[in-house]
Amino acid sequence: MSLTVNSDELWHAARVARDGALEIHADAADCRSLRERCAQIIEHLTPNKQEYDLYLGSARDYDGLMRSAIRLGRARVETRGFGWRKSRLFNSRRYLVAFVDDAWAQEVAPDCDAFVSPGVERSGTFLVTVPPLVMIPESRKRLRNRAFRSVIEHEIVHVNQAIRGVYPLGPGPGVQGLLDEYQGRVRMEYQANLLQLAHWPDHYPQDSDLSLEHWCVLRGHTDGLERCLGLPERWRTAPGDVLTFVESLPQHLVVVFAKLGIDDFAEWFVARLGSYVRAAAGLVARWRPELAAIGPFREFLKALHSDATPDPAAIARRLRRAGVR
Ligand SMILES: [Zn+2]
Repeated sequence: MSLTVNSDELWHAARVARDGALEIHADAADCRSLRERCAQIIEHLTPNKQEYDLYLGSARDYDGLMRSAIRLGRARVETRGFGWRKSRLFNSRRYLVAFVDDAWAQEVAPDCDAFVSPGVERSGTFLVTVPPLVMIPESRKRLRNRAFRSVIEHEIVHVNQAIRGVYPLGPGPGVQGLLDEYQGRVRMEYQANLLQLAHWPDHYPQDSDLSLEHWCVLRGHTDGLERCLGLPERWRTAPGDVLTFVESLPQHLVVVFAKLGIDDFAEWFVARLGSYVRAAAGLVARWRPELAAIGPFREFLKALHSDATPDPAAIARRLRRAGVR
């Protein structure tokens, strides 16, 4: 089924009915506020000329360098080639994409159609700065359909977040590092999903009871949880920090949502924290099997599954009282 509609018509809850017709569910006020919100995000994330020129220069240099390395057989094995994609969201600007080995992509970004490297790479013992890159599994190199184009636009939002210095680069030390990372991930995925789905709602589940914006907040929230609960090193060396993070989540979530201007949704998410924490912990256990060998993570996961409606904060408190530090 293909959609050939003016993207202006897709603001907010445009859904595709069974017969392929487009249904618009939102009223005019919803459409206007969503349109304004998207415009604000685009304005905030569009690199200025100097930032973009700097990115373009380093991306062109990197492209040239890596193409030679591939020809000479000196590129990293997972890199298969490079290309450029034009963004419709960001003034037809061009962005560098890398085509990578499918199995490697599945390992570093499980179940993702494409993903982003924010621009810092490890080479031996050195950290090398490279331009932020959209990574596309090689088997999808020639995909040009609407749905996949929207995925690339989503990833380009992340590239711009990296260029503008608002892409979270991994948690800093301590509980605060985890709380900041959660906030960064909620914002990053909320913005990327909102811009993607408001223009191309192909990946917006038609049977969802949630509004498009609510769905985008959910995408940010689950990403933030998966990120902060799926850190084997943290569970190994400072499990008490992860537990304190979980314990702080109900209050922290309210603060984070208020900062992002999405506070209307906070109560709904706090009420369902148990099922989302359980789902996130289950997913990261599947993606990172090494977590199963770490005692505190195993205990946490077991406790989350022992109750139909688990209270993650109470579980975290109990484990800390039992001596997890
Ligand atoms: Zn994303």
